[in-house]
Amino acid sequence: MSALLFADASQRLQNALKYVNIPDDAIERLKLPKSSLKVSIPVRMDNGDLRIFPGYRVRYDDTRGPTKGGIRYHPNVSIDEVQSLAFWMTFKCATLNLPFGGAKGGITVDPKTLSRFELERLSRGYIDAVADFIGPDVDIPAPDVYTNPMIMGWMMDQYSIIKRHISPAVITGKPLTMGGSLGRDTATAMGAFFVIETVMPKVNRSPESTTVAIQGFGNAGAVLAELMFKAGYKIVAVSDSKGGIYAKDGLDIPSIKHFKESTRHLKAVYCEGTVCNIVEHDVITNEELLTLDVDMLIPAALENQITDANANDVKAKLIFEVANGPTSSAADDLLQQKGILVVPDILTNAGGVTVSYFEWVQNRTGLYWKLDEVNAQLKERMVEETERIWTIATDKSTPIRTAAYVHALNRIGEAVEAKGTKSYYLGAA
Ligand code: GLU
Repeated sequence: MSALLFADASQRLQNALKYVNIPDDAIERLKLPKSSLKVSIPVRMDNGDLRIFPGYRVRYDDTRGPTKGGIRYHPNVSIDEVQSLAFWMTFKCATLNLPFGGAKGGITVDPKTLSRFELERLSRGYIDAVADFIGPDVDIPAPDVYTNPMIMGWMMDQYSIIKRHISPAVITGKPLTMGGSLGRDTATAMGAFFVIETVMPKVNRSPESTTVAIQGFGNAGAVLAELMFKAGYKIVAVSDSKGGIYAKDGLDIPSIKHFKESTRHLKAVYCEGTVCNIVEHDVITNEELLTLDVDMLIPAALENQITDANANDVKAKLIFEVANGPTSSAADDLLQQKGILVVPDILTNAGGVTVSYFEWVQNRTGLYWKLDEVNAQLKERMVEETERIWTIATDKSTPIRTAAYVHALNRIGEAVEAKGTKSYYLGAA
């Protein structure tokens, strides 16, 4: 199943190739990852048992700079999933013109079953295993699904212990006091919001007349839900890993977010102060959420949610991919036939890695930015690249995803060309 994920991811590259004129060298280079590391991480559990966890780090391509990408903790993590995610990071960084290639890491673990002590030992153990593979000028990890600033802080600390000097730029998404950046925690959602706001006038829509369903109520989904709620969108459904809630007249997102933060449960509530009352709603599954009769669908959880099995039932007219890889390539074709506009992950969720880049810059210069500056620079980049991709899609009559790949491929191609290609060496150009 996951080996299929990489084949499916590569299909997007194939779809874009006919619209670009880049050296064959670049295309060859992008077929396989630069390097892949598999490790096993021994962890002494609180009850005295020794458990071994499989971990991975894949550096996909570093033509445009050191590789960059998060570390995921999830029971389904496999080398093929990590490789696909590293592939997407390569295109994401190029889409936003960040001076990075793509990478990804992961540990096959259900972090919810670990104590905090075990989680710290596992995180430090991961760095012990990959320390020679990463570095501020080599490969820079960050948070991803079920990892957070605390974990990034432990990892930075462990790397600094191994190297015997403080090295904040080795990892991003750290706590503020350890060299984190203001605005990194909300960056993925904020970036997605800027993309959505740039696209809305192009499709003649206003927030007030747009109903929205959001799958995933983690760092990206919940913050985005709140931003959109405040901007006037009608959020009618949200879900977390256990299931979702739906209310056709709209949900009160700040109350739900407050309730989830204090209880870890997702409930349709309306809160006044600290008192939250349950409001009328339907309980739905994650699968049902995807096919609700809404204007906009935002998958913000995991990959492979919209596939050829359910794409024909999707009723939304607009999809913004906040998760990585939520739509399969077969589903893409079906959505396209139905006239559904899909704004792809490598653009929509690129706000996270963009502010990671700002964090890395701040770590290396030692000069820390104000929140307004972070958000202003993020907005400028997200809007600019959305506009560019929109223009490519219009000029070449392609889906937005293909246009985003064309845009990224042109930048990667230029970098390959700068190092010399077959036609340069043989004097043909
Ligand atoms: N994990 C995030 C992503 O998929 C952020 C990566 C980063 O900040 O390097 O884009």
